[in-house]
Amino acid sequence: MGELYYNSTAWPVKPDFAAMRTFGPTPRYERVKTYQPPSMPLPLIIAGPCQIESEEQVRAIADSLIANGIKFMRGGVFSAGTYPGDSFGLRGTEMDMWYSIAQEKGLKIVVEVCDPRQVETIEAYADIVQIGARAMQNYALLSEVAQLDKWVTLKRAPGATLDELLGACEYLLKGKAKPILVERGGASHLNHCRWELSVSLVAAVKAMCNVPILVDASHASGRRDLVERLTLAGIAVGADGCIVECHQDPANARGADAVQTIDFPAMARLADKVNKIHREINHEHSNEKLG
Ligand code: PEP
Ligand code: MN
Repeated sequence: MGELYYNSTAWPVKPDFAAMRTFGPTPRYERVKTYQPPSMPLPLIIAGPCQIESEEQVRAIADSLIANGIKFMRGGVFSAGTYPGDSFGLRGTEMDMWYSIAQEKGLKIVVEVCDPRQVETIEAYADIVQIGARAMQNYALLSEVAQLDKWVTLKRAPGATLDELLGACEYLLKGKAKPILVERGGASHLNHCRWELSVSLVAAVKAMCNVPILVDASHASGRRDLVERLTLAGIAVGADGCIVECHQDPANARGADAVQTIDFPAMARLADKVNKIHREINHEHSNEKLG
């Protein structure tokens, strides 16, 4: 079976934004409504470590991704974390090494940007620029990144509503950027996992507009034993793909996110299931549309 590409006609679009809104002035989101994303491979699977650590690590992860048909590698070199004591790195020194290995192997890379002053540097390396959850409402950063003619993964801030996420998306659409939303969990009173992944938000986005949306169950759950089930739940409600943290030796991965990082066999199983469920769901909705 050939690769699937983003097809906005596969899902019924209901552009009645006002009906979805509870507070505030009548929403407009004109740019969000009229946005027609260019072709992208579906499902879009982005996988890799929380942080880029070494050449050996990058080569091992890159080879495993390629063996499993995954073409997009994530990795933190300029990422943000909640606590200053966490080992979240602003270590651009690893960028050249990662970039040249990705070029050599034909992988695309997803690089987070935290600061408007880094945008020019990151533009030279990143195939997809990531806006982290904590930066979703940094409007100076969004306006700077909006100038790039690139895909941009925009993560929902833990406390942001759907309206606020779409508002941030509209900032990106003021320029040349091509946004992809990411649901990575929000604040909740529940204490069984780090954040609460909102599958209803994913379903609402699919019903409202053509902006692609991915789920990131690694950051949402903070628990490697929940990553597969939550990712598949997201795909089942219509997500266009996922972001997953994986590593050759998760227990010894650098940083606080080791607890949510899965190993290569688990990543291979997950990618296989994501492909199957995505195909099933997309097929069903295509039929609905035709019927
Ligand atoms: C990340 O993707 O490495 C990250 C820090 O995620 P988030 O911004 O969702 O916490
Ligand atoms: Mn992480």
